[in-house]
Amino acid sequence: MAERDYRAVGPLPSSTRFLAGTSVEVAREIPRGPAPEHALFDFDGTLSLVREGWMDVMVPLLAGILSEYARPGETEEGIRALVKDFVTELTGKQTIYQMIRLAEEIRTRGGVPRDPRDYKAEYHERLMERIASRRKGLADGTLPREEALVPGSLEILGLLRDRGVHIYIASGTDEEYVLEEADLLGVDEFAPGRIYGAQADYASFSKEMVIRRILTENRVDGRRLVAFGDGYVEIADSKAVGGTAVAVASDESGRSGRPDAWKRERLLGAGADLVVPDYRDAEALVAYVWDGVEPDTAAGAAGTRPSGGPGRGGPGPGGRR
Ligand SMILES: [Mg+2]
Repeated sequence: MAERDYRAVGPLPSSTRFLAGTSVEVAREIPRGPAPEHALFDFDGTLSLVREGWMDVMVPLLAGILSEYARPGETEEGIRALVKDFVTELTGKQTIYQMIRLAEEIRTRGGVPRDPRDYKAEYHERLMERIASRRKGLADGTLPREEALVPGSLEILGLLRDRGVHIYIASGTDEEYVLEEADLLGVDEFAPGRIYGAQADYASFSKEMVIRRILTENRVDGRRLVAFGDGYVEIADSKAVGGTAVAVASDESGRSGRPDAWKRERLLGAGADLVVPDYRDAEALVAYVWDGVEPDTAAGAAGTRPSGGPGRGGPGPGGRR
């Protein structure tokens, strides 16, 4: 089964608000319901920064290839914009889909593309060159893990684990590398046996399939699911089943704590409920999503219940507070 393509689901919300004193932006109020028991994280750009800069490798490479087939009057700039657009739109799906799209674009220009797997191999070779020193630094301890993680990653994973939430990691990167890099970053222990990545037989994997399996095997509906991601796919997939979607508009190169404007807009368009730049306000984020509790406007620290009803009630897995 092929993965779906994603488009903006509707107009951007006309106004958003922030949880008091935090970087957590609320675009769509989360309807209070049962507390989520399952949290799905995308990997690259959502937890891991090991592959930071991948787009700066992929876009020029693909634009360079496609420009050989440019239509009369089609500018390099135009091609680059087109490539950036489809690369972004397909972010979160397995890498092969970006290469399949490239092949389609070549074909619509009258060209005969190579096998998309060849393009993927070329891209991967270039990317690995770029990130080799990072992977080595993590392996030999000269690069601290924190520097290759979205800030607050270990904190939010720990908070969720303490609540007994089942954590899953699903990535469009080849599974062997996801497992390797999750281990290098020390995030694998939070999702034991629940880390998934791209397969050579690409039709056998999608985040949608992972989500469906989570819901089926646990006999729960989508309200029990929260997805965290910096790509279209995990956001739209979670919304499609009635789950909550947290857009991680991570500033991968700067780790500045300010949301990446491009990602933010795209992910809101995909239906994200919340936007965070990273997990520096993990506690407030988790308290809001899981308990319906917001930081006190005055104190900014202690939680208070919002007017209009209790938070998500009932005991949760592992003794939810
Ligand atoms: Mg990602």
